[in-house]
Amino acid sequence: MLDKLEKLSKILNESYSEKSLINSLKTFFAAEFGCEIFHITIENSILDSAVQNSENILSYPIFKHKKVIGRVDFENKTSELAEFVKFSLPFISLKIQNIILTDKMQKNINFHDTMKNIAKIIETQYELGYVIPLIGEMLDKFFHDYLIYLFLKEETSGINFLAWPGACNDNWILELVNDIETPVSSEDKKTFVLPLKSEGKFVGVLAAKSTNDSVSDKDIDYLSQLSVQIATTINRANVYGEILKHATLDALTGFYNRRQLEERIKQEVSNAKRQKAPLCGIMTDVDFFKNVNDTYGHAVGDLVLKTIAKVIRSQLREYDIAGRYGGEEFSILLPFTSIDEAQMVAERLRQSIEEKVIDISKVNSESDVKEINVTISLGIYEMREDDNDEDLLKKADKALYQAKNTGRNKVVVQND
Ligand code: GH3
Ligand code: MG
Ligand code: MG
Repeated sequence: MLDKLEKLSKILNESYSEKSLINSLKTFFAAEFGCEIFHITIENSILDSAVQNSENILSYPIFKHKKVIGRVDFENKTSELAEFVKFSLPFISLKIQNIILTDKMQKNINFHDTMKNIAKIIETQYELGYVIPLIGEMLDKFFHDYLIYLFLKEETSGINFLAWPGACNDNWILELVNDIETPVSSEDKKTFVLPLKSEGKFVGVLAAKSTNDSVSDKDIDYLSQLSVQIATTINRANVYGEILKHATLDALTGFYNRRQLEERIKQEVSNAKRQKAPLCGIMTDVDFFKNVNDTYGHAVGDLVLKTIAKVIRSQLREYDIAGRYGGEEFSILLPFTSIDEAQMVAERLRQSIEEKVIDISKVNSESDVKEINVTISLGIYEMREDDNDEDLLKKADKALYQAKNTGRNKVVVQND
């Protein structure tokens, strides 16, 4: 008996996780007592007192203070075994309690670290594309027994799109995310889904799917606390994105606004000079645009400008720069482009606008005319080495003036 106790005490001293402890105990009882069945269960299937089961299984409760926290079930082989288990159970349960407590403390420390890290992200207000992977990785690390999914609400459509990780195959989650208003637990209690809400607005959805047991109350508590932080972070990032967009882009066309365009001109002129690369500027102006406004109304005028911007963008290369210079005047910068190529680009733009049929019926339902066409005039200029920042568009504008005066709907090259 004494040597068995010594062996047991060694096992208790050397185990640091619940799993390894239970495994070692199994091996121990099998080797020392020929006991093939030895189960320890914590938290689930709690017993009030010792039970003799029908299949020769004895069950004892495991206590923590005066509360039952689990049970041990073992094969009732000999009275010596029963005696030994009864005697050693307080030590075993004490060890289990210690392990659980240490785990909980460690998890609490990790939780506070995670919260602190998310708070750090909030302070720095990075863009969403940067923020989401950071949060996703932190959640994955903290909830390592879970598959974590993060959905973001798209402002215009109101649809929640998966933002972390790359894919989600859980149909229950996918069906739920677009009409969830309060936290929901799946029937098997293994998945928990919460809406992310900040300042009264839904900004996305957080879903956690356990890969082991059902989601514990403690983890629900962690998820709820984290969801508040995450929602705030996303909200801030959304606001930041909006501010950034309005500071650089024109709201109607999505092109660079005048201020940003001037910044880009400076950069491109200096780039072209440094690299001795050709750079062309195009100025365009809508022909008889005042007529469009006067005949069909300002809303149709706006639609025309939006449509022209779309057509222009579709004809340009990724690194070409389009800006709204003024009301119905657009400027285009073509880096690494000589005047002959620029002329071809400008002609293509002119033609595609001329051919574009614009459906105005949705914007002006009263008008008998349902579709209209507009044309644009274009002036182009290739920068010379002695030109300054302003010359590029000033000289292109001179050519545009020529185009207007010689019939419109045409491209004129400024030769200087
Ligand atoms: P032209 O081809 O000779 O330049 O004739 P035009 O009618 O374009 O003449 P002008 O350039 O003087 O008129 C431009 C008009 O564009 C005047 C203004 O009301 C309109 N406009 C400028 N910005 C906007 C805008 O954002 N939306 C709308 N709907 N109209 C605008
Ligand atoms: Mg004009
Ligand atoms: Mg005009």
